[in-house]
Amino acid sequence: MDYQALAELLFPDVTATPEELEARFPQRNLPEGAVVTRMAPSPTGFVHLGNLVQGMISERMAHQSGGVLFLRVEDTDAKREVPGAVEVLINSLKFYHIDFDEGATMDGDNGAYGPYRQRQRAAIYHVYAKKLVSEGKAYPCFCTEEELSALREQQEANKETTGYYGQYAVWRDRSLEDIQAQLTAGKPWVLRFRSEGSVDRQFKFDDLVKGKLTITENNVDHVLLKSDGIPTYHFAHAVDDHLMRTTHVVRGDEWLPSLPFHIQLFQALGFKLPKYVHIGPLMKMDGNSKRKLSKRKDPELALTYYKAEGFPIASMREYLMTVLNSNFEDWRRANPDAALEDFKFSPKKLNPAGSLFDYAKLLDVSKNVISRMTAGDVYAQLLDWAKEFDPDFAGKLEADSEYAKRILAIGRGGKKPRKDLAVWKDAKDYMGFFYDDYLEAPQWDSKFDKAVIRDVLSRFLESYDFADDSAAWFAKVKAITEAIGFTTDMKAYKLNPEAFPGTVADVSTFLRQAVTGKTDTPDLYTIMQILGYDRTVGRIRGCLSALN
Ligand code: GLU
Repeated sequence: MDYQALAELLFPDVTATPEELEARFPQRNLPEGAVVTRMAPSPTGFVHLGNLVQGMISERMAHQSGGVLFLRVEDTDAKREVPGAVEVLINSLKFYHIDFDEGATMDGDNGAYGPYRQRQRAAIYHVYAKKLVSEGKAYPCFCTEEELSALREQQEANKETTGYYGQYAVWRDRSLEDIQAQLTAGKPWVLRFRSEGSVDRQFKFDDLVKGKLTITENNVDHVLLKSDGIPTYHFAHAVDDHLMRTTHVVRGDEWLPSLPFHIQLFQALGFKLPKYVHIGPLMKMDGNSKRKLSKRKDPELALTYYKAEGFPIASMREYLMTVLNSNFEDWRRANPDAALEDFKFSPKKLNPAGSLFDYAKLLDVSKNVISRMTAGDVYAQLLDWAKEFDPDFAGKLEADSEYAKRILAIGRGGKKPRKDLAVWKDAKDYMGFFYDDYLEAPQWDSKFDKAVIRDVLSRFLESYDFADDSAAWFAKVKAITEAIGFTTDMKAYKLNPEAFPGTVADVSTFLRQAVTGKTDTPDLYTIMQILGYDRTVGRIRGCLSALN
């Protein structure tokens, strides 16, 4: 067979050469050890937590080594593409600080190794397709869908491995004349790889996450170009990651079964193989067993979920790093105020079997993250969230930003900051009572006579002086407690509760409820100071008349 003639027959219009492409996309001039990696998502419109995990791993590996992170859009499957999906993807990743140095952007491509959208790279793939054909490493196959299904059925009936290989690869060794005849008849064809592999042979391979693997060779003549001339993922992966000078391929381990073929393809093309980082899926506990997070069953798989709940970006990044590298938590304890980027991420510490995603732990991490923020940061992020998800609340926050910041400053800054908020969605319930519109009427404990509550409230009003400091204020609360025959001695009360009609804690609760509508709030003295004299007194008076 004259492979050169076959190559000309199949790709008459391809005149560019691999050498020209090599020269157009030269080796990157980067320091030793710099990682060049990429995200290569398909624009399906659904951005999930796994994308963020992959994004964080790639971003850390690239940037902590002084390398490059780029975004390549794998849009070869036009059927699966959703309009606007690329924009959604770029925005979602950007929101979580996955900053690309080059690649597809909102306004076209940015970088010297593009185009970064695969459909625009057809001509490039064809150069390498022609090369493979001219070297006898690829050939056209004219099998119809029906013929391929019949083949599969036959193999299944014979209990053989299904696929286009060995004697089943019927177009593998056909003559130039046969091929020519089909082409003249206008028959559609795909380009297949001519595999020299054997399932009887194995070789060793080192994956940065999975470790040492023993891999069986691929013997299937997989498709490189589909009948419309668009490449399959496999072929595009080899050509793109070579020409874009990727050093590390970070991708989901669902691609592991294709790895033997990819290795073969890189060899056949004369490309240096990149390093592979095959990451396991995100798992969750379901009862007593672990399972993969599922798009159908788990709303928390979608990235939009976390935005709507109001998880700060820093919480998501902090939690995911805890999940990804087991030594991160110790590092964080030793470096509580350091930027996450100062931590040295290692792909070798990823759990090869996949990471366990624990929602309760995420909430916990988020509480810590929020507790360490300044009131100004909390205000800014909460406001951003509220503008999108609770505009009424946003209006309140904006109407008096100083007031809101004083509220958000409660319990912040000390050694043991308060941990009231895990997500911005919690904020309204936590602080809503500061706004008259959100104030709820108290539910008094029926254990106490209304007259006693009234008595406490009126005595408080008589003695309340806004200028009191917290000690003086509390001394007055204690005085009221004693005046109505309740006790301030909590120890004595605990030993013999029956002996007392109530305690200073009950008195405080009456006041707290009158002012906030709630039984559980931060420090009441501080709350009254922020509310101001008029609002505090007005609320207590309101309760008094309602109790009459
Ligand atoms: N388009 C592939 C996917 O979305 C990319 C895999 C890769 O990163 O190589 O799964």
